[in-house]
Amino acid sequence: MLRGALLAIALIATLTASCGIIKSPRDLSGPAEDGGASSASSPCDQSGDDFAGDVGLARCLTEWFWSRQFQQSGQTYRPITRFVAYQGENGPDCGGQPAVPNNAFYCPAGHFVAFDETWLRAMYDQMGDGAVYVIIPHELGHAVQDQLVNDFRFNIQRELQADCYAGAALSGLVQAKYLRTEEGDSDELLTSLAEAGDPTDAWFAPDAHGTPAQRQNFFATGFDQGAAVC
Ligand SMILES: [Zn+2]
Repeated sequence: MLRGALLAIALIATLTASCGIIKSPRDLSGPAEDGGASSASSPCDQSGDDFAGDVGLARCLTEWFWSRQFQQSGQTYRPITRFVAYQGENGPDCGGQPAVPNNAFYCPAGHFVAFDETWLRAMYDQMGDGAVYVIIPHELGHAVQDQLVNDFRFNIQRELQADCYAGAALSGLVQAKYLRTEEGDSDELLTSLAEAGDPTDAWFAPDAHGTPAQRQNFFATGFDQGAAVC
């Protein structure tokens, strides 16, 4: 909890920071042999050079991460069936529930992820590409939950676990050298979570996501300790 609080304080100081996440190109030769700053050839075709590229890359890399995680525990990850960009009111419905503007969501009924493109792009422009690398992995975290045996008493547990999964996926991709973070990136990532956090500490509300500090704390835990602790 302390760590979350400290991160939140650091965050306030750097709200305007917007540093880039460095992505590995597709055509580099093989993983680097020694540590350092070198990158590995990406398993994904997307460039990550612009908004559309980053959104596609965030999805592809995160699913790559989970495929490998599932494989390591003798399971098979089931990729999402669709990845839908919508504008405002015209999103796909989920089991009869209409999509709402300014949102991204995972739909268990169709096993797909959808996002309001205008909303996500505004965050990308405002906060940098880190926004995409938090929000998309968070939604895919719900797709992962759907494939594991999970028994949540409250929705907030589901949401905070998805944040933890997002942190784990991000750090796994950094370890695999498919992504690199620059100074200030963790702040950028945490800003995205803070923006997405519910304004109140309403633990029992059906749609509760957690306070910014809670969300940052769970994200940081996943990032530091990996998916197993989530
Ligand atoms: Zn969520």
